[in-house]
Amino acid sequence: METKILDGKQTAQELREEMRLEVLRLKEAHNLVPGLAVVLVGEDPASVSYVTGKRKACEKTGIYSREENHPETMQERDLLALIGELNADPSIHGILVQLPLPSHIDEKKVLYAINPDKDVDGFHPFNVGKMMIGEDTFLPCTPHGIQQILVRNGIEIASKHVVIVGRSNIVGKPLAMMLLQKQDNANATVTVCHTRTKDIGHFTTQADIVIAAAGRPNTVTADMISEGAVVVDVGVNRVNDASKPKGYRLVGDTDFNSIMGKAAAITPVPGGVGPMTITMLLHNTIKSAKRFKSI
Ligand code: NAP
Repeated sequence: METKILDGKQTAQELREEMRLEVLRLKEAHNLVPGLAVVLVGEDPASVSYVTGKRKACEKTGIYSREENHPETMQERDLLALIGELNADPSIHGILVQLPLPSHIDEKKVLYAINPDKDVDGFHPFNVGKMMIGEDTFLPCTPHGIQQILVRNGIEIASKHVVIVGRSNIVGKPLAMMLLQKQDNANATVTVCHTRTKDIGHFTTQADIVIAAAGRPNTVTADMISEGAVVVDVGVNRVNDASKPKGYRLVGDTDFNSIMGKAAAITPVPGGVGPMTITMLLHNTIKSAKRFKSI
């Protein structure tokens, strides 16, 4: 079977172009510029690179981005004061605090301090609750990106059996809730597997769509999927590779090469879910700005 590569870069680019035009329209028709604040505490190289990626994506889309870079030694009370300031700033419609935070700061306290109306990451329990009961809210970016990559590539979700490997609060669990909703682009039957699941292959071989979000290379192999299944690989793992300039390469959670030829479609790593995540952050920022102006 020929396996289609679901090109997340291209899908993300198409969505971002639509968003760029929407931002232009908002500026012209409503004098509204969506604004995103990205807060970074410390200099973790991966976090610095994520924040840079978000800033560049905002610039290209016409979204105002405010970078708040603070030293590792920043005190919790100062970070909470900054969140308060951003909550009150009318030019800011979305606030994102880059995780992880240094260990002396209570992550929960900080995330819960963000005004739920500016919670473009969709991590605030108020928004998680709304998503759970199917109300309109900010959807968390990675699960939303996964849903969109399927929809935009014409892969039907309704009535399909989706098996998700991983139950984290940022990927597995919210994705399961989203795909289960009695709504468009959902209506799936969902199974969630984790480290205490007995025989994961028993479930994944019954899936029309397998989502690998375990954070471990080769968690899903060709013998664990059925012929013609769709595979979404969310994982981003560094494996040592002396032939690469950086000494490592990025791989997902699936055995990509063996799955090629058996699956109907698969997302690559990199270039699959990754570019979609930032794109859905831009989507939420625009959504928030429109809500603030009741557009
Ligand atoms: P996480 O918080 O570490 O959660 C991993 C989940 O997978 C847990 O629920 C864990 O089960 C389960 N798991 C781990 N090993 C397993 C195994 N061998 N068999 C079955 N289940 C297993 O990770 P995460 O934040 O959800 O992220 C998952 C992966 O996606 C990571 O590689 C991460 O880097 C990547 N990611 C990518 C993006 C993107 O934009 N591309 C965004 C977010 C995350 P237990 O609950 O039982 O421990």
